[in-house]
Amino acid sequence: MIPVSEARETLLRLVSVLEVEEVPLAEAAGRCLALDLKAKRDQPPFSASAMDGYAVKAAEVERHAMFQVIGEAAAGHAFEGKLGAGQAVRIFTGAPVPEGADFVVIQEDVTRKDNLITITETPGTSSNIRPRGGDFLDGQTVTAPRALSSSDVALLAAMNIPKVPVRRRPEIALISTGDELVMPGGAPGPDQIIASNTFGLKAMFEAAGAKARILPIAKDNAPALRTAFSLAQGADLVVTIGGASVGDHDLVAPVASELGMERAFYKVAMRPGKPLMAGRLNGMAMVGLPGNPVSAMVCGQIFLIPMIQCMLGLETESDALALAPLSQPLAENGPREHYMRAKIENGEIFAHNNQDSSLLSVLAQSNALLVRPPHDSAREVGEMVPYVPI
Ligand code: AMP
Ligand code: MG
Repeated sequence: MIPVSEARETLLRLVSVLEVEEVPLAEAAGRCLALDLKAKRDQPPFSASAMDGYAVKAAEVERHAMFQVIGEAAAGHAFEGKLGAGQAVRIFTGAPVPEGADFVVIQEDVTRKDNLITITETPGTSSNIRPRGGDFLDGQTVTAPRALSSSDVALLAAMNIPKVPVRRRPEIALISTGDELVMPGGAPGPDQIIASNTFGLKAMFEAAGAKARILPIAKDNAPALRTAFSLAQGADLVVTIGGASVGDHDLVAPVASELGMERAFYKVAMRPGKPLMAGRLNGMAMVGLPGNPVSAMVCGQIFLIPMIQCMLGLETESDALALAPLSQPLAENGPREHYMRAKIENGEIFAHNNQDSSLLSVLAQSNALLVRPPHDSAREVGEMVPYVPI
């Protein structure tokens, strides 16, 4: 059995950063930017009015001042002339501020009669002008690597960048193993259950930027597993679920080694998730997860998300965990690192009473995994404990 940190380092060495591909901006959300990008223009590209009103000279602005309106500037329609003393240009939000003007009096502060305006209210101190380049300047950089958010996409659009270099999505093949398993929507026999792990893991991996493929369930026999592995071919990472212990029906290890897996490790000193196996198989990284649903999900979070981040060229989350104070005491921990299903509420954390690794309903009520180091002593209410948000 190896410690969690060592297992994670070994897993990261099984994968490498993927190639760069170019995608249209409209499809870039959630993808990982691979190269720095530079703005291709200033934004705004001209001094622009922030309000509807009248562009004038700031030095002439005072209550009761009068101006002659000599033209109009609207968004997309600049006023071409130059503003002289005592003159004003009717202006709308987003329009270029005419040459000679350096203040926009908002329309609420003005009365107009024909082409004459009078400032009737004391204007505020804001010029109501957005300066050229006030948002960003030509050449300003959006740095890689980063997972592109909707705000990033909006920024890149404004920078006039129509195509974006991103990392190829890691392809992950997911194999459930077990004679007892039936796909959701199927008709389970009296001794069968529904395969849940592949669905939970697909959702988890895709939220992290991967593309996951759920393969047909492999029965607990060697030919079925061989077929499943052959269907996984071409993926960057193949993940099996279940059949990883040493029972008579646990065939993942023998079949994978018969197919040529170079094993990196088997068994990690953690709860849940002790029977975790990893290696390389036919050009793919291979991870064998335990079958218990919570074990599979916890191992997915702790081990596979960092592998996905590594393939996407992202910084893998550091070992420095967040801390929260306990709202309920904890008993002493055993010899394995324990990832307890926990809930953070009002800034405090508590571990759920029932930590059985088959309870998906408890996992679904959790928003954190409370991390107990091996042999951690009992903990009191108020003590700070580390956790992984989920
Ligand atoms: P195993 O590791 O194959 O012995 O499985 C451990 C437990 O997890 C057993 O109760 C299995 O029925 C259950 N299990 C295995 N694979 C899945 C799956 N894909 N979805 C839900 N439960 C599973
Ligand atoms: Mg099984």
